[in-house]
Amino acid sequence: MARYLHIFDPWNFPLCTCPKKYSIDPYTGCEHRCLYCYISSYIKDPWRVRPKKDFLRLLERDLKNAPKLPVSMSNSSDPYPKMEKSAKITRGTLNLLKKYDFPVLVLTKSDLVTRDLDILSSMKAVVSLTITTADENLARKLEPFAPPPERRIRALYELSSHGIPTIVRIDPIIPGINDSPHEIEDLVRELAGAGIRQIIASTYKAKPDNFKRLIHVFRDREEKLREIYYRNNEMIRGIRYAPRDLRMSLLGTVKRIADRYSIPFSVCREGLPLNTAPTCDGSHLLHNNKDQV
Ligand code: SF4
Repeated sequence: MARYLHIFDPWNFPLCTCPKKYSIDPYTGCEHRCLYCYISSYIKDPWRVRPKKDFLRLLERDLKNAPKLPVSMSNSSDPYPKMEKSAKITRGTLNLLKKYDFPVLVLTKSDLVTRDLDILSSMKAVVSLTITTADENLARKLEPFAPPPERRIRALYELSSHGIPTIVRIDPIIPGINDSPHEIEDLVRELAGAGIRQIIASTYKAKPDNFKRLIHVFRDREEKLREIYYRNNEMIRGIRYAPRDLRMSLLGTVKRIADRYSIPFSVCREGLPLNTAPTCDGSHLLHNNKDQV
């Protein structure tokens, strides 16, 4: 029988600094089709969203027997695809997590998350929205089918005003594409106004398929990206990283901007000494939200 509650990072990736937690994905596949997406290298038919079979029943069985740890939802899909409006599987999942007292870290690019404000504000929940740029045109190229950044920022305002801790993932930062310090500062200024509690950032890692999609759209960046990711790159457990000095410089810039706005900062899977937030994934922000308002 399928199990849907899994330990996050069972492979113990050497640069992962996350506290122990579970990972769940109510859906397989993701319709946002981000150019830089990693799931296309390990999920068949990655852009077709389908609900997992008998998800809520089997998840409840898993939750009844599992030690209490935070649950991260979702890491290989978006828990709020369009189909969720009527399928309500993510909403059912939140209800189960609340019932069995499992804290949840929601990761999404969709403002549909605000539909579930009522549940999120009555349980231990933190919501992370990924926003890689505030530039609508650039976002349309990078994440062609995701809600525009402006809608995601509005969702942050709404979540924060209901006492739900929010985080923004500026992830990934792609050299020469969304790394302009001015534009990052414009974005962070807006995020500070929306009351976010942490910024998590990470650099792009090249996989053959996401690299192909990226250079197909950003042809003028091909040479530079090849140099960074195929000639001067660092390999970490078989993954193509940009060289450490470049990553330090890109992420150090984001950290300095976050510092200026007094927003705690962390990096994700980078192995760089830049964190100012108590946990890299925001799990320190998990408190009963109904006690915080
Ligand atoms: S939202 Fe995440 S899972 Fe979905 S396509 Fe974009 S990067 Fe991939």
